[in-house]
Formats: sequence, C-alpha cells, structure tokens
Amino acid sequence: MKHKAPEDRLPFVGLLAPKFGAVKRLEFHMSYVCNQTCIFCSESVRMDTHVRSPLTLEEMVRVVLRKRKEGCEHITFVGGEPTVVPQFLDLLKVTKKLGYKTLLITNGGRMSQDKFALEALPLLDEMVISIHGHTSELHDTLVHEELSFKKINKLFGMLGRMKQKPFVITNTVVLKQNIAHVSDIVGYLSGVAAVDHILLSNIAPDGRALEHYLDQAIRLSELGKLAPRLSAAAVRGGKVLRYFGMPLCVLGEAWEDSNDLHWNPRTNVERAFIDGKAGLEDTWNYTPERMRYYPAKCGGCAWKSKEKCVGVFQTYYEHFGDGDLSPVREASVSGRRRP
Ligand code: SF4
Repeated sequence: MKHKAPEDRLPFVGLLAPKFGAVKRLEFHMSYVCNQTCIFCSESVRMDTHVRSPLTLEEMVRVVLRKRKEGCEHITFVGGEPTVVPQFLDLLKVTKKLGYKTLLITNGGRMSQDKFALEALPLLDEMVISIHGHTSELHDTLVHEELSFKKINKLFGMLGRMKQKPFVITNTVVLKQNIAHVSDIVGYLSGVAAVDHILLSNIAPDGRALEHYLDQAIRLSELGKLAPRLSAAAVRGGKVLRYFGMPLCVLGEAWEDSNDLHWNPRTNVERAFIDGKAGLEDTWNYTPERMRYYPAKCGGCAWKSKEKCVGVFQTYYEHFGDGDLSPVREASVSGRRRP
C-alpha cells in the first residue's frame, strides 16, 4: 500500500539568510566524484549532475574564507569522496590556517595510503569512516570495491598508533542486505581501539537508495527492536552508539541515542546550476528534519510537541505507513531512561 504524504507537510529547509543567529557549522559539498559505487549511495544523482563541473581550488578557497567571515568555525568535507578531489589537501591546509575545526566524511580508501594519511591526518579533528560490514565479504560487496574493508582496517591501525588522533566516528548504513549482521558489526566496531563513536544509519531515500528503495529499506521496527541491546553492547565496549533517521518511539529504551538529539544547525554550500551556469548555492538547515514527515499518528505525541523527534522519512511513510510508530504520553517521556 502506498501512503501519500501531503505536499504542504514537506520538511523545512531554510533557503534564505540565517534566521536563528550565527550558524557555526559549514557542510561543504566539495566533491562530486567517488572511488566506490555503494549500492545505497544517496549522492549518486548529485554526482552524476555535477561531475563534469568540478569545483576549482579558487572557488573552494573563496567559500571557506567567506563562510569563516560569516562565523563558521567547523567545516565538514562532504562528497562523493572528498579525498579523491586533487585539491583536497590544499583546501584542508587552508581551512586549518583559517582556524576551522575539520571533519572529513570518507570511505577510507585514499586515507589508508601512507603518504596521503601522513599529510591529512594531523590536520583533521574528526573523521566519519563509512563501514557497512564486519567482514570483507559483506562490506566489499555493498560498496562494490574489492579491498575496501582491508583499507579501512589499515586506516584504523594507523589511527590507533597516533599519539593524538582525530575523533573517529564510523557510519554503517543498515539495510536488508546487512541487518542480519548488525549485532556482529557493532560487536566488531566496539573492539576497534581507534573508534570512538558508532553511528547506525537508516537508509537515506535519495539517489541510488531511492531508486532501489524497496530492495534495500528495512522496517523501522527491525532495527528498533535490536536498539537497546546494540546500545548496551557498544557501551560495554567503551563506545557511544547513535542512530540516524530513526524516530524516537521506534528506538524504545535507546531513544536517547537518537542522533537527532545531538544535531547542530548548519549552512551548506554546494554546486548548482544558476541561469544555466555552474555556480554555488548556500542553504541553511536549522533542524535535522530534511526529508522527514510527521504522519497524523504523531499528532498527540509528547516527543513531537517537545520538538525532540522529527518523525519518519517521508518516503518510508509512503511505502510502509505508520504501523511501526507508537506515540508516547508526557509521563512516559519524562520517566524513560536507558538501561
Ligand atoms: S510517534 Fe511520531 S513524533 Fe512521536 S516519537 Fe514516533 S515518530 Fe516521533
């Protein structure tokens, strides 16, 4: 059954100048190329659209200078894969000189090369490393890259040997193809010394993930019912576990681990065609509700009224409805605690 979300309930994404004071985080979509072809890539359409109009170093430097003047203190390099852009190291050096705190989202391939890592790692404050399995067989199959798992593990080793390493977050997209192994994946990552924080992400319905949505998307309750046990396992391993794209009610006792509760407003800069010419566009997000939707069932939920939960992905609702949601009353919100 298809559930249609009304158009006027589309999530809020600010397209004008900041309205809520200075935004300190910049998400810079500076790469439209990648050295992997993950089956669930949510960026594939954007990459196809802009791959033939890559950003020049001059353009990139102008952006980071301008955004620093606007008050940004933190930069996230977003792709595609940022490290395969030839000017990445030069841009990283400039941002450090400007005093930005730096975060790289990466698949780890280029970062596992000794010479590249030697230059890049000391300039990074934080990294998000994408890893979607606990074995080569599983991870490499999902990303269509034979040695990817091995390269990530080499990178973990390098990070583990650093005196002062970046803060390391891993990101695992949970989908039909790996949910049977999600406990093994969390167990495996909990044992990696270099990892500080584990993120389990619901599939983001965009790009290739949207194209293959029904082949890949799990029911929210499938991950939700495992969440308290997964969170406890990560804590035992000395890690923090967080969930992206999961409504609070579905996480049960693990609701405090929703990544949405730890989200900061941000400004994005990305490639766009303006009057038919390749330019750059600024947008602002003040909440994590991009592509999310509150079904009618959320109406009386205390977490909606307290603006803690941003609902479900609209695409999820359109395909699966609201059967997995269980609105909470005020009393249960204040009384709930993680075990
Ligand atoms: S019922 Fe709706 S608002 Fe409440 S926690 Fe669930 S998804 Fe969020």
